[in-house]
Amino acid sequence: MSQDLINEIMVLKKQKNAILLAHNYQAPIIQDLADFTGDSLELAHKVSKIKANLIVFAGAEFMAETAAILNPSKKVIIPSTMVKCPMAYMLSPKIITEYKTKYPNAIVVLYINSTAESRAFADICITSGNAVKVISSIKEREILIGPDKNLAYYIQQKVPDKKIIPIPDNGYCYVHQKFQPSDVRRKKELYPHAEVIVHPETEPAVQDLADKVTSTAGMIIEVSHSKSKEFIIGTELGLLDRLRKEYPDKKFIPLLNEAICIQQKKITLYNLYLSLLYERYQIQIPSEISNHSRRCIERMFQLS
Ligand code: SF4
Repeated sequence: MSQDLINEIMVLKKQKNAILLAHNYQAPIIQDLADFTGDSLELAHKVSKIKANLIVFAGAEFMAETAAILNPSKKVIIPSTMVKCPMAYMLSPKIITEYKTKYPNAIVVLYINSTAESRAFADICITSGNAVKVISSIKEREILIGPDKNLAYYIQQKVPDKKIIPIPDNGYCYVHQKFQPSDVRRKKELYPHAEVIVHPETEPAVQDLADKVTSTAGMIIEVSHSKSKEFIIGTELGLLDRLRKEYPDKKFIPLLNEAICIQQKKITLYNLYLSLLYERYQIQIPSEISNHSRRCIERMFQLS
């Protein structure tokens, strides 16, 4: 059955001249079928250069929105309507406006994990992979950053001369918020020679205990350069599937076995097949939101 679906998907991709992009948190079978797999930053770069007319996005809704914003003339589809990132919806234009009133001199920098609607109220976008570089290169000292308070903490540690204000106060990714300092200590005891790498979406106390804090693309680079043979990985389990495949001689230990993004895992072989067959569900963004959001993303590219 799976092999039949895989064959059908490959035929449809070819027939429709479609390109399939998959995020690092997708199931291994989806990653294997993809033309390109990466983190938000890599996928955003890739998407800005795509020639194909149909883009199928296996990832969270905000990533597919980025693809549609950067390719207004292309058809961007997503296999499920249930891939809405809860963190992205913790921030709204209303909250941004309230904070802008409170901090009139601050610039608004939004994590790419935001809705297109919120991004229309921002000055610049960032990803976890380029956040420090982008923030270091802007002249404003007061910076509103949303929606992830933990990413805001990470940036503040790296760029201490700026005043980083998280918006809202308590935005977080429920997957990365599961990691606790006690998980790091327990795994370090079990694997004393392993290098601990965690995502900037983890809590400050977890970041402080790690050997390295970086994006998923940064984790892959770290593994490729490190002399270590064992790694404790603090992010969604999908990345471990990719690491195990690319580095079979190294050992990858999940910081927590429950680190699963339920929303991203809603994409399956079956709904991917239906998506290609019926060219659904198309991402459509009103042009005024899309145009402003595009300027924020392009400014990010310029600064990173
Ligand atoms: S892993 Fe977290 S930030 Fe990423 S899509 Fe899932 S809930 Fe959102």
